[in-house]
Amino acid sequence: MDEFGMGSHSTNSMHGAVVSQLSTDEPISAGGSSGGSAVAVMLGDADMALGTDTGGSIRLPASYTGSVGYRPSYGMISRYGVFAYANSLDTVGLLAKEVKPILEILVDTKLDEEHDPLDPTSLSTASRLRCAKMCPPALEDMSRLTVGIPLEYNIVELDPLIRKGWAYAATALEAAGVRVVPVTLPSTKEALCAYYVLAAAEASSNLAKYDGVRYGVRGEHGDAEGHTLYSEARGAGFGPEVKRRILLGTYSLSSEAMDNYFIQAQKVRRLIRQDFDKVFRLDNPLYEAAQFDLSDMDAETDLQDKKGPPQVDFLLSPTTPSFAPKLHDVLSTSSLETYMGDVFTVPASLAGLPSVSVPSTVVGSSLPLGLQLIGQYWDDKRLLKMSERLKALMAEGTPT
Ligand code: GLN
Repeated sequence: MDEFGMGSHSTNSMHGAVVSQLSTDEPISAGGSSGGSAVAVMLGDADMALGTDTGGSIRLPASYTGSVGYRPSYGMISRYGVFAYANSLDTVGLLAKEVKPILEILVDTKLDEEHDPLDPTSLSTASRLRCAKMCPPALEDMSRLTVGIPLEYNIVELDPLIRKGWAYAATALEAAGVRVVPVTLPSTKEALCAYYVLAAAEASSNLAKYDGVRYGVRGEHGDAEGHTLYSEARGAGFGPEVKRRILLGTYSLSSEAMDNYFIQAQKVRRLIRQDFDKVFRLDNPLYEAAQFDLSDMDAETDLQDKKGPPQVDFLLSPTTPSFAPKLHDVLSTSSLETYMGDVFTVPASLAGLPSVSVPSTVVGSSLPLGLQLIGQYWDDKRLLKMSERLKALMAEGTPT
């Protein structure tokens, strides 16, 4: 995995990069940060693997390797034992070849019902009961479901073959009886910037304890003259990407930058959550059902009735804007370009929503393509059921 979960290709590790040679002769990126988990399940070394997903670290490797990657609702599955990267975003989820074992483990072990007192972000039992009451217990017949296609995800940078695979999935769902409608999530454009401000800020605070006294490495010189123990420990113990995040985060939390970065990013985060709440048929159990002002909506928005645009059960998008790059190319890619790969996964992370990357294929590429399904908060079981159906539909035929 990437050091401290920071990365998108599992190349940021002192142990070297995770190498994926699943569908090509040349090594390609396994995705990150949980790339090792994805490769392990695809090689059959494990039936299922744990991963952590802060901004996409389960879904992105799933997309690049052709596995199923499930990020649960924030606060559902205990994070006890996991080092925090960005507390308000981190989740522990699962990767497997199929959806079924993931759904089974969620149901059989009642992961969604158990509050863990050892994880301060684990939802309380009372909240869990309230959330469960607000979600339909089973997935309805396909003809009673509506899936939204978020228009803002159709970015110019999207690989044309991925766009084709996405369109094919929408058509296949429609043919299976699902109502497929376009929806708009206007704040999506700001999500990536907000994510990288918030995640870095939280990381800089979480990693402060690696000071060579309580945690972290103690440099060779100890506290000999001319060497400060603290600076040596901070310099020796972290890889370059982690150092970059710490510096970014420390800057955005500094008094002169706080208002322009951290506070703005928090506002964007709230807007992103509201965008999702507007389009989902189910209310978000964590918040009071909001009255939306239609005058806030874009003039282009198709209104279904006086309540606004059509409401959906799930959203469908690609998981990543491009296919897995060659490992060789990743090593010469700038950090900023790498951050771009998270553009479709960070919105659900910022809103704390469950989402699944479902593997598919497209004619014209030998590499797997991940389709992302996003559901309302705590609607994880229906989302996984829907993912199972989508995967089966995709296995029936490949788009031409
Ligand atoms: N690629 C993102 C990052 O580097 C997501 C990482 C994650 O989800 N752990 O922050």
